[in-house]
Amino acid sequence: MYADVILPLPLPGLFTYAVPTEMQPSIGVGYRVTVPFGSRKHYTAIVTRIHRERPENIKIKEIHSLIDSHAVVNDQQLRLWEWISFYYLSPLGDVYKAALPPSMKPRDLQQTYTPKTENYIQIDPEMETAYADRQLGRAKKQQALLAEIRDYLTTKNADRIGKKELSGFSTYSASALKGLLQKKMLIDVRIETSRLESDIAPIRAPYTLNEHQNTAFLDINDCFRHKQTCLLHGVTSSGKTEIYIHLITQFLAEGKQTLYLLPEIALTGQLTERLQAVFGSRLGIYHSRINDQERAEIWQKMLSPHPYDIIIGVRSSLFLPFHQLGLVIVDEEHESSYKQQDPAPRYHARDTAVMLAHFFEAKTLLGSATPSIESYYNAQTGKYGLVTLTERFNGSMMPEIRIENTRELRRRKKMKSLLSPLLIELIDQSLKENKQAILFRNRRGYAPLIVCKQCEWTPKCTRCDVTLTYHKKTNRLICHYCNSIYSVPKICPSCHQESLETIGQGTEQLEEEVSRLFPDTVVARMDQDSTRGKDRSEQIIHDFQQQKIQILVGTQMLSKGLDFDHVKVVGIISADSLLNHPDFRAHERGFQLMTQAAGRAGRKQTPGTVIIQSTDPGNPIYSFVTGNNYAAFFQTQLAERKLFHYPPFYRLIRIICKHKDAEKAGNVAFLLAKLLRKSLHERVLGPNKPVVERVQLYYIREILLKLEYGLSSHQIRDILNKAEARLRDESDLKQVVLYYDVDPLS
Ligand SMILES: [Zn+2]
Ligand SMILES: [Zn+2]
Repeated sequence: MYADVILPLPLPGLFTYAVPTEMQPSIGVGYRVTVPFGSRKHYTAIVTRIHRERPENIKIKEIHSLIDSHAVVNDQQLRLWEWISFYYLSPLGDVYKAALPPSMKPRDLQQTYTPKTENYIQIDPEMETAYADRQLGRAKKQQALLAEIRDYLTTKNADRIGKKELSGFSTYSASALKGLLQKKMLIDVRIETSRLESDIAPIRAPYTLNEHQNTAFLDINDCFRHKQTCLLHGVTSSGKTEIYIHLITQFLAEGKQTLYLLPEIALTGQLTERLQAVFGSRLGIYHSRINDQERAEIWQKMLSPHPYDIIIGVRSSLFLPFHQLGLVIVDEEHESSYKQQDPAPRYHARDTAVMLAHFFEAKTLLGSATPSIESYYNAQTGKYGLVTLTERFNGSMMPEIRIENTRELRRRKKMKSLLSPLLIELIDQSLKENKQAILFRNRRGYAPLIVCKQCEWTPKCTRCDVTLTYHKKTNRLICHYCNSIYSVPKICPSCHQESLETIGQGTEQLEEEVSRLFPDTVVARMDQDSTRGKDRSEQIIHDFQQQKIQILVGTQMLSKGLDFDHVKVVGIISADSLLNHPDFRAHERGFQLMTQAAGRAGRKQTPGTVIIQSTDPGNPIYSFVTGNNYAAFFQTQLAERKLFHYPPFYRLIRIICKHKDAEKAGNVAFLLAKLLRKSLHERVLGPNKPVVERVQLYYIREILLKLEYGLSSHQIRDILNKAEARLRDESDLKQVVLYYDVDPLS
């Protein structure tokens, strides 16, 4: 008997091992085994097929040991892994690595999953009270402690008490406990417990939907009758979450599980509270900040007869073992953080969610106030259903959006700070009314650039081809590509003069300036730097909700689906910088960010104001944003995408070649492009040098494939594999790093 297995290694294909005779009755597909691979190494592998076909011409090794007595990966999961590997051109081993929590796939002597235990104290059940009192004699402290324990257990109707709890007793002392244990009056026990909370009771029923929400709810149901996927396009603050809650309830009644995907960990906190209030401990939370042991426990619970009915999580929760999946919700479906960048597999969680649902014959609901061009196109062409919600919840009004021409203001010497006079006035006003403000700047750090006034020297990362960003608080220069940290030179290292100055403004400088403009208010900043610590972003969000913070400064992190009740003013400080990227999605992202940011303003009955500061207010995108005109924006984008051969009309695959030697990187890319052109012709673009040519010591060259729909994916994959194999044959190209980014973000 033989078993094909997946190894957690970036190697193509499956590996075949012989199944030892004694293991044969108990092994199955989806089971974990340990197998030898390479020189004296053991890996945890997953069995994908059991058969009797002896592979030819290779020496077959035996499976070393069998870990499980049941499958830990089910058929739908294996199908999903294969699809990801195929579609995203990524080895199956990489998909497996991304899917399972690390402690479930130990290598050699690495840490494995260990159950959590707690210490308890028990009274010997055979012992009679009178006997105990006699035995204890004059040890009054021990007697008193024993009596209190006895009372406690009687009232609680329990047979043991946690050691921690015991230490809170009035009669407790370490010596009395020790005495009782020595005399065997008490027994010390260790009991396996769960890391997961299991007794959260629901506290409310779903709220009744208003008229518009209810129409949308019925439309979605109607749509699900003939479509697998539905796009819910609902303006910001239209109450989409409550519609989701009603849908989940409906699927629960049919005995079906729901997966609720969010783009960011920072968002899970606010939403978890809302869902827990309705669903209690039927809800499980899964993301990378939950520790590995707990993730392994959630995985096991999903395999048990009593799995979570609802999982809320970020993209990695797609990999959990569902059994009765009925609904997948992809909230804020337009968010770019749904795309995995590094390491492989570079999958898009939204598109993978649609596939996952397909394997379960489940439904997918995509939700957004600013749908991605791809999803909206799919809805327009009938591939997805479309439901729209144009009314804000609770009668709150759409904010007024105004564009401030900062070029003109500067010319007239009216810009005395980073904020326009009108924005300052509006913030001032709202502070007086006890309201809050949010300010966006899509650049973290203090200043993006330090430059020498004399010789134009500027500090660069030694490992990457990028200028360093100045961070004032830590007085360091940081590379935003590899996170290398450098000290700030006092004099210019090139011309040796004290002539260094900062150019441009990041969030840190904005925070400093806002604190100076509004000295008596609490200003906080939310970006990657300020939220490094665990739960830090949740804390900032919480404090802002509680109005302990009046002005919040931050990057796009802030625009993602957060609900605040008292925000009256939103300022977008340098909107042009959102649009000036050499990237086909720059306008799409700019529109989404501005609309989403604007959506943070004006909840409940207070209408809000949004100020967008731009040096180029004539750009048509601003009129789409101020007019809240998604349809017109979509049409112009679609026309451009069609004209320049971009998605949704063409499928993009970026090929990345990296080498520590610049010349070799260039040669590899050139040769590869030449090989590919033989069969793909003008569909092959490049090779090109990316904007940042060198990252972490590696020189990068890129090739872009623009493929029309209708080409066979199998054929493309074949062409790529063959070209890659040819490259690997050339002896001096062995050191090259080569990978694919399918459906790249830019
Ligand atoms: Zn760097
Ligand atoms: Zn200089």
